[in-house]
Amino acid sequence: MARIVFKFGGTSVSDVAHVRRVATRVVKAFRAGDEAAVVVSAMAGTTDQLDHWTREIGGMMDAREYDTVVAAGEQITAGLMALALQSEGLMARSWLGWQLPIETDDAHARARIRHIHAAEIEDRLARREIPVLAGFQGIASTGRITTLGRGGSDTSAVAIAAALNADRCDIYTDVEGVFTADPRIVPSARRIERIAYEEMVELASLGARVLETRAVEMAMRNGVSVQVRSSFHDTPGTLLVDEDEIMEQDVVTGVTYSRDEAKLTLTGVHDKPGVSASIFGPLAAEGVNVDMIVQSGSHGGERINYTFTVVERDMERAVRAIEDARNEIGFDSIVADANVAKVSIVGLGMRTRPGVAQTMFATLAERGINLQVISTSELKISVLIDETATEEAVRALHAAYGLDSA
Ligand code: ASP
Ligand code: MG
Repeated sequence: MARIVFKFGGTSVSDVAHVRRVATRVVKAFRAGDEAAVVVSAMAGTTDQLDHWTREIGGMMDAREYDTVVAAGEQITAGLMALALQSEGLMARSWLGWQLPIETDDAHARARIRHIHAAEIEDRLARREIPVLAGFQGIASTGRITTLGRGGSDTSAVAIAAALNADRCDIYTDVEGVFTADPRIVPSARRIERIAYEEMVELASLGARVLETRAVEMAMRNGVSVQVRSSFHDTPGTLLVDEDEIMEQDVVTGVTYSRDEAKLTLTGVHDKPGVSASIFGPLAAEGVNVDMIVQSGSHGGERINYTFTVVERDMERAVRAIEDARNEIGFDSIVADANVAKVSIVGLGMRTRPGVAQTMFATLAERGINLQVISTSELKISVLIDETATEEAVRALHAAYGLDSA
């Protein structure tokens, strides 16, 4: 007997027929003797609609009311899922975040889970009931409903699995698992059977949309065994495991990309101590996250250039913050360019094998793809390129590292 947390969301619960269909997976496991808890997110498109309505009425003036609105989608699917399970003859009931409760901090619209009171759920499991929990939401110490930030229900599921000490957290989605690259771009991409948490954190944060980065980090910290599986096909999916559970590491595990990047270039900056702080301080104060950074120029001269990247929606705000700090920084011009993409290779195997970066650079050079910025860490290399070359770059790298399926 295993204790399993099932997570369904989006397209897996897009209408009543889908809710019924995925519920049969829970029923099957339950009838086989497993304990099951279910975490749901909203029906596909629902949260977008709720979010849109708050913007229409005047935006995020009061984030507490924003949360009240956008948390509503999960209430619907939680109730429907409980009804679907009941119609199969099982005992099931829904739980909203405040009912457990799932305690969070009071950072509305991006709250962090502090504590989950799971005793009642434990009790219900022992009585062979199936608790259905609304993902994405919690309650602040103020008593107000909070949400965890868009896509946050994966984090809810992992947190609940950790609190229940579950044997597994199965996250059902519309793809068959984690792939070596986006199969829409690389038809020869393969499903990865087992991937190390660390690699998955990188893939998720560098653009792979299959799991939320925060959820993966939480799973890694708490040793939650996460499996990504398809709602629509009965295939094995991808298992997240500790590094030492992977016998032979490939050099590169996956290639990923993000088009949601913008490049800012600051020219003619006075080269003096403290200048970096004078640039990035105002950006931090504006809440703009800076990703890749290069500083260049100056052969004995006193002027240098800075190039750095931010997510596209922060681009205008970043330019304004820099313009406002012009006097403190001292520079000639600032140019922003959203026509860039970040392409990354990820793999724990690259730590121990030389020449990995060289293969990447040579592969892209052969295709005339210019590298505008490079950044590396122990287990990833990212390059910033012209956005129009994204697909060609991903395909070429996938082949170059031997990831194409035979
Ligand atoms: N329903 C929420 C959203 O669309 C949470 C989630 O789907 O993970 O962002
Ligand atoms: Mg999601």
